[in-house]
Amino acid sequence: MTPLNATHDASLTSWVTSAQTLDCDFPIQNLPFGRFQIAAKKDGWRIGIAIGDQILDLRQALSSVAWQADIARMLAPLAAGDLNAHMAESVANRSAFRAAMSSALAAGSPLESKLASCLMAQASAEMSVPCRIGDYTDFFTSIHHATSVGKLFRPDNPLLPNYKYVPIGYHGRASSINVSGTNFKRPLGQILPPGQETPVFAPSKRLDYEMELAAYISASNVQGEPISMANAEDALFGLGLFNDWSARDVQAWEYQPLGPFLAKSFASTVSPWIVTMEALAPFRVPFTRPAEDPQPLPYLASKANSASGAINITLEVWLQTKAMLDGGMGAAKLSTANFADASYWTLAQLVAHHTVNGCNLQVGDMFGSGTQSGPKPEEGGSLLELSKGGKQPLELPNGEKRTFLEDGDTVIFRGDCKSAGHARIGLGEVRATVLPARAS
Ligand code: MN
Repeated sequence: MTPLNATHDASLTSWVTSAQTLDCDFPIQNLPFGRFQIAAKKDGWRIGIAIGDQILDLRQALSSVAWQADIARMLAPLAAGDLNAHMAESVANRSAFRAAMSSALAAGSPLESKLASCLMAQASAEMSVPCRIGDYTDFFTSIHHATSVGKLFRPDNPLLPNYKYVPIGYHGRASSINVSGTNFKRPLGQILPPGQETPVFAPSKRLDYEMELAAYISASNVQGEPISMANAEDALFGLGLFNDWSARDVQAWEYQPLGPFLAKSFASTVSPWIVTMEALAPFRVPFTRPAEDPQPLPYLASKANSASGAINITLEVWLQTKAMLDGGMGAAKLSTANFADASYWTLAQLVAHHTVNGCNLQVGDMFGSGTQSGPKPEEGGSLLELSKGGKQPLELPNGEKRTFLEDGDTVIFRGDCKSAGHARIGLGEVRATVLPARAS
C-alpha cells in the first residue's frame, strides 16, 4: 500500500488558484493523468495533469523547464502522448514523478513563472481515452448488484454458489471503449419478446447504464507466473469512472450459457482522468467479510489487503433527459453508492485472481469493477435495479418517467473521496448521450 507522503498534505496549496476552489475535483493532492489536445487546433495528443480547472501540458513542461534527468526521462513519452510508458515505470519512479509535479505546482514553487505558460483550460481541451487499453475485463464485484439482478433473472436462486468464492468476470471488448462525451447509437440485436419462443431483431428497448470504476493495470506479468496478493497493489496504476452500457433485453436472450456478449460490446465509456493509486492512499479502508461468509481462499488474502485493501469512494449517477436539457433543467441525481460498501472483492484480489491461472496482464489493461450497487434498494447502480426490472418507473423532477434509457438521455457519473484530515479529491465525471438507433 502506498504510504502517505508530502504530496498528500492537506495544507498544501497550488499557485494555480482554481485548485483551491471549494469542491474542486483536482486539488494539488490529486494530480490525475489524461490525454489531450487543443480542440480548436488538433495540435497533437500529449499527456497532461489536471490541476483546478486547468491542465498542465507535459509537452510544454518538458521544453520549458530544466528538469532533473530522471524526471526529464519520464516526461519524454508523456510529452509524446504515451501514458502506457509511464504506467510501466516502477512504483518508486512513479512516486518520484508525482513528488516532482507536486513541488512544481505548489504555491511558492520557483518553477511557477516557467510553468504558468504551460497551462490550458480544461474547457478548451479535447480528451481521448487516457491510455492504450489492450484488454478489458469486466468483473461483478458488488454482491448487492449480483443478488438483486440475480433475483430478476432467477427469482428462486439469486446468488449462485460460486459468488462468495470466485471474483466473477468476463472478457470484454476494448475496441468499443470511448472517452467521456462520445455519444453512441442505441444498439440493435436479437430480443425475445415476453411469452414468445422466437426472437425479433430490433433496437434495444431496455437500454441501461452500469455505474462502475475502471482500474488500469501497470504491470506485465510473464505468462504462467501469477501476480500474488503481495505484488497486486503495485500492478495497479489508478482509477477512473466507467459506464458499462448494457442492453438488458439482448442480454437476457444471449447470456446463457457463455455470458454477456453483444449486450455490452456496442459501447462503454471511461472518464478522461486517471486518479493514481498514490493519490487514493488517504482513502484506503479495511476489507472485511461478514463472519458468516466464507473467508477468501489463501491466494486471495493478505494482511495488507485486510488492513487497507478497500477504497472509500462515493459514486453518483445523474440523468438529464432531452426535455430537461431543452427546458434548461440540470441533471437529476438518481443514486449514490460507496465502493467500499458495494464491493465484495478488492482490486488487489481481482489482479491476483485474474493471473492465478497464469494469464498474463499487460500495461494499460483495464478492469471494470462491475456495477457498484450499495446495500439499500435506492443505491442500485443500474436502472434494472432502480426500476425493479422495468416494473417500477422512476419519476424525474420534471414529471418524466423512466424504466430504461430513452433517446436523448445523458447519463453522468461522478465520484469523489473524502476522509477527515485529508483534502477531498474527485474522479471528475463520465458522460454520454444515447442517440437513436440506426435504421435497421
Ligand atoms: Mn458491467
